[in-house]
Amino acid sequence: MKKERPVCPHCGSNQLVADGSLEFDGAAGEWRAGSEIYNESCLCRNCGRSEFNPEWKEHKFTVLTPAHATLDLGDPPPYCSFDVDVDLIEKIKSVREAIQSLALAEASISFGGWWGPETDEYRLQGGALVIASSGSFWASDMRKHESYYIESEVIEVDDLLALWETATTGSVHVLAAHGDEAVELLAEYRTDTIEPPVDDH
Ligand SMILES: [Zn+2]
Repeated sequence: MKKERPVCPHCGSNQLVADGSLEFDGAAGEWRAGSEIYNESCLCRNCGRSEFNPEWKEHKFTVLTPAHATLDLGDPPPYCSFDVDVDLIEKIKSVREAIQSLALAEASISFGGWWGPETDEYRLQGGALVIASSGSFWASDMRKHESYYIESEVIEVDDLLALWETATTGSVHVLAAHGDEAVELLAEYRTDTIEPPVDDH
């Protein structure tokens, strides 16, 4: 799988159409799209601009989910967020195959989610992404000197793979939350991740 995808240089969307040539595939007996596109032939379905060359950018997006503590009296983090890139997608697919071929109940990989602005102070240890045979996964971590886990909500692997195909590069997607909860979560995340103004003095 390629790390990079073409994006619109004006709005960043991946929803591009381009002109190119067809090559006749003798074995299949039909025309197939060639891999080259004509110069300045792109049209963006998102912003409507046309006649440009795409930019190539590493495809990644951010997932944001509610989070909880596994102990009722524990201190839950505000949310869990993590970047999804081609490496993570390929890892999750491989682990899912291993779960099926070895009939495992679940399997986990080392993983570092971002649990809000206090993440560095949490002194986390043993972060993992747990993938279950049911086809769902969640992020899990533990603060040093605490006896309980902090976990993201449960996400379906298929939902993540579908999002991988359609998400705009650089976008943020709320999963496992709906309606007002999703809106509030995104607002909190946006506030937390705004770059502080540079202090010249
Ligand atoms: Zn565009």
